[in-house]
Amino acid sequence: MKNITVLAGGVGGARFTRGLLAHLARTDPGAAVTVVVNTGDDMWLDGLRICPDLDTVMYTLGGGINEEQGWGRPDESRRAAAEISAYGRGWSWFTLGDLDLATHIVRTDLLRSGSTLSEVTEFLCRRWKPGARLLPMSDQPVETHVRLARDVDEHRAGELMHFEEWWVRYRAGIPVTEFVQVGLADAVAAPGVVEAIERADLVILPPSNPVVSVGTITAVPGIRSALSSTDARVVGVSPIIGGAAVRGMADACLHTIGVETSASAVGLHYGARAAGGLLDAWLVDETDATALPALAAAGIRAAAVPLWMRDDASTAAMAAAAISLARA
Ligand code: GDP
Ligand code: CA
Repeated sequence: MKNITVLAGGVGGARFTRGLLAHLARTDPGAAVTVVVNTGDDMWLDGLRICPDLDTVMYTLGGGINEEQGWGRPDESRRAAAEISAYGRGWSWFTLGDLDLATHIVRTDLLRSGSTLSEVTEFLCRRWKPGARLLPMSDQPVETHVRLARDVDEHRAGELMHFEEWWVRYRAGIPVTEFVQVGLADAVAAPGVVEAIERADLVILPPSNPVVSVGTITAVPGIRSALSSTDARVVGVSPIIGGAAVRGMADACLHTIGVETSASAVGLHYGARAAGGLLDAWLVDETDATALPALAAAGIRAAAVPLWMRDDASTAAMAAAAISLARA
């Protein structure tokens, strides 16, 4: 296995990739990993460009993540955020720690002087040395919004709200009718993304949000067709265990697009590559083994193994299982 490409959101994709790298370090040190990261959650805040998933992946793989939160840095203060609030500016529900703010300042400075997001990401990674090549899904801004089903506070029914506001401020607790990727029509895959998929020996969809992480990446023009034409096997790892999202609120996203929150429903939603879908193989948790026959009937090779990412060892074992399922 020389080249492995992972299509990742934030926490789930980052933790899985850390386990994958730990597994490869022991078994296949020559393997190279590319992570194509969702940028649909990106936004402007306080004049700064924030890329939540890129930063979570970069900090997690680079040893600088706040493990409890899953975003931001450990031991950072909120003093600058408190000062911004004192001016009545910013979003009180989206706090940026002081160390994390430095990343956003550097990123914004480079973007404003003409660098692309790919170039900025490469620059930031020179410091963090994540052990994998990180690529934004696109260099053009593509921002996920939700369409509100009813009025809420100052927002009106039918209007769009940025995904992060719905997710973080309202905890995905207000009904929405659809997800809209603003900017998608003018976006293309970032340099190297299509090649990383087409030339991979293995493509992995890690346990990331199927709708607003994997769904957004695969909606970028060029990415889905690369996934269908690549000679690599495409293997997915279920983010749903026993009918629930393991951490977080992915069920609210699945509900909105009419997909049941279950490992088999998500696998069938991605679909078999042979039938125009995304997957050759799908790994489900051991407690979801009853899903295997339906997946096999749909043309998706599936296996059931423990899928809780408790630590690097359990996560590395998941990565090993994904690789051997793809090889089988
Ligand atoms: P986000 O951008 O931070 O929301 O992160 P992702 O898009 O990568 O996905 C988060 C998803 O990862 C959650 O919705 C969970 O369903 C899934 N997840 C988190 N922890 C685990 C775990 O230990 N095992 C599995 N199988 N899935 C997990
Ligand atoms: Ca995210």
